[in-house]
Amino acid sequence: MKIPTLTSKKHKILTHNNIDYYLFYHPVLNCIKNILSISDISQNFTLRFENFKKNTEASLPNGSKLLSIILYSDATTTDTLGKSSLHPIYISIGNISTKRRNKSDAKQLLGYLPILKVKDKFEKKSKDFKKLVRLTFHNSMKFLLDPLFAKKGIDLEVDNETYWFFPRISTIICDWPEAATFSLVYKSTNSNFPCHFCLISKTLLSNTDLSDITFRNNENMQEYFYNDAGQDVSLKNIPNYFWSLPSINIYTATVPDRMHHLDLGLFQYQIKFTQALLQKQDSSLVDNLYEENKNNVEDFVENRKLSEVYAKWNKMYMMSRSEIFTESDLENFQKDTFEWAKLFVEIFKLHSSSNLKFPKFHSWIYHIFESIRQFGAINGYTTETYKSLHKDFVKIPYQMSNKKNVEDQIMKTLKRQDIINVINKKQKKKKSTKLLNFSSKLFETKLTEAYIYFCEKINDPNINDNMIKGFDQFLECFDDFLDNILEVKNIKECDIIIYGTATLENGSIIRAKNKFHDKPWFSNVAISMDSNESSDYQSDEGLCYGKILLMAKIEIKEESLLNLALVQWYDFKFQKNSYLYNCPLLKLVELYNLIPIETIDNIVHIIPRFDKDNEYFVNKYIS
Ligand SMILES: [Zn+2]
Repeated sequence: MKIPTLTSKKHKILTHNNIDYYLFYHPVLNCIKNILSISDISQNFTLRFENFKKNTEASLPNGSKLLSIILYSDATTTDTLGKSSLHPIYISIGNISTKRRNKSDAKQLLGYLPILKVKDKFEKKSKDFKKLVRLTFHNSMKFLLDPLFAKKGIDLEVDNETYWFFPRISTIICDWPEAATFSLVYKSTNSNFPCHFCLISKTLLSNTDLSDITFRNNENMQEYFYNDAGQDVSLKNIPNYFWSLPSINIYTATVPDRMHHLDLGLFQYQIKFTQALLQKQDSSLVDNLYEENKNNVEDFVENRKLSEVYAKWNKMYMMSRSEIFTESDLENFQKDTFEWAKLFVEIFKLHSSSNLKFPKFHSWIYHIFESIRQFGAINGYTTETYKSLHKDFVKIPYQMSNKKNVEDQIMKTLKRQDIINVINKKQKKKKSTKLLNFSSKLFETKLTEAYIYFCEKINDPNINDNMIKGFDQFLECFDDFLDNILEVKNIKECDIIIYGTATLENGSIIRAKNKFHDKPWFSNVAISMDSNESSDYQSDEGLCYGKILLMAKIEIKEESLLNLALVQWYDFKFQKNSYLYNCPLLKLVELYNLIPIETIDNIVHIIPRFDKDNEYFVNKYIS
């Protein structure tokens, strides 16, 4: 039996100022397979594109299918993480409907990119450092994405059939500064050509009457780059990884998402300017407030116009939320957008210190419509989704880590996602193991009282350390289980009954007891993947060993009864030489999950090694 490790990995990408920088990642093909293993996604998977991606599809060999890859990048949420910031990249698939794709399980965390630290303030400003940052970013993307572009394409299973796919990156959803990182256009909005879509001069950013626009594309940008003239078009002197990929124009592929562009961008400006304007025009006459310019304020704006700009905004915003656009919808949307834009400029131009030279304003009115034509609806990646991805993948591990050992915590987060994937897959397949019954009831509490109840148990001297760990981890793991495995929210109350013994239909008995024949007994278990997965998948997917700390029956209204086990996971003790006499050598790690008892495959014998600290081996010769 080959026992693979979990799939999360780290890769050293660079050493700078004597610090090693790592990419923490899931192999990209595993991410895709994980998404495809969700049955409703697999069953409703688009294998032929109607309009937007038709051209790309036509360029592929006969009989093959297009796999449209979407990347999400959000560096802004890392701000709160201070010095140890991380830059998460998520991946999803364009063959999934927009609506389904917006649910969090249709995305996978591809990895965390390292954020380089400066030695001092001189380095921070140095050109070499800025260049290194961007070079590292593109090298990291190359490392993460290259496996997608095998010459002969890749085979993937969709709804129980194998198809021949060619993956192509279709869109990258990100905020403005990151779009500059992908396209390697100068980041500063003060540069001469600040738009990554086109070659508009910075002096014309608020112009709503542009007639001819020169677009950036891979060809003209490479020409500038190879003629050493990148600076003439505000292009960094670094070769762009995306030039080497088929069917992607990196200058149009980074599409604005609504949240960053409107909610956090233009709308904030509009509010800020309105506030400033109202303060300036303040009048004590409530009746005709702002109707007449009684105080002789310079550049007075009537109340009527202010209301109008908000009404026009709302009209445009509502349109931007559509999920399907016909050509005439698009024309109306464009008309509404320009009406808002012209009024916005008229009212606020004289009140903006930069004369409204906002790249987001320009790109919204000049580039959003072409993006919709090419890629479909504007991404509905809401603040909510960002927050929950951020909470799951960045914030929680960071807080748990107490700002130390961030790297360890990142690996744990990645592994946790592996485990959730494994459990989810097993949940959705036919259950091979059935729970016959629970016995030896130990404790009972309600969810709302559980915190205090568990705290009492933690201080009870008669309770074994394993069970104390279980009580300590229970609520966080339950929260995680509800979010990621059961996918329900807002549970107000439920009964939690803790049992010491669970008997499975196959006769195995799992124990988590303080006393069994006068000794504590906490069973060890193995959770494996089904053997009918394709062979390369099998060798890369996890078989996990865990120690059972607690077992609980939980009853939630309108949900089926949950039989859960709280598991503390083992990992390999050593990176190399991880076997002794063909038995894996393990250590217990600070990683816990609640899992359905039905997903447990076997009870295993895991034996502490004599005279060693936190070192165990699996005895495969006893069963
Ligand atoms: Zn532009």
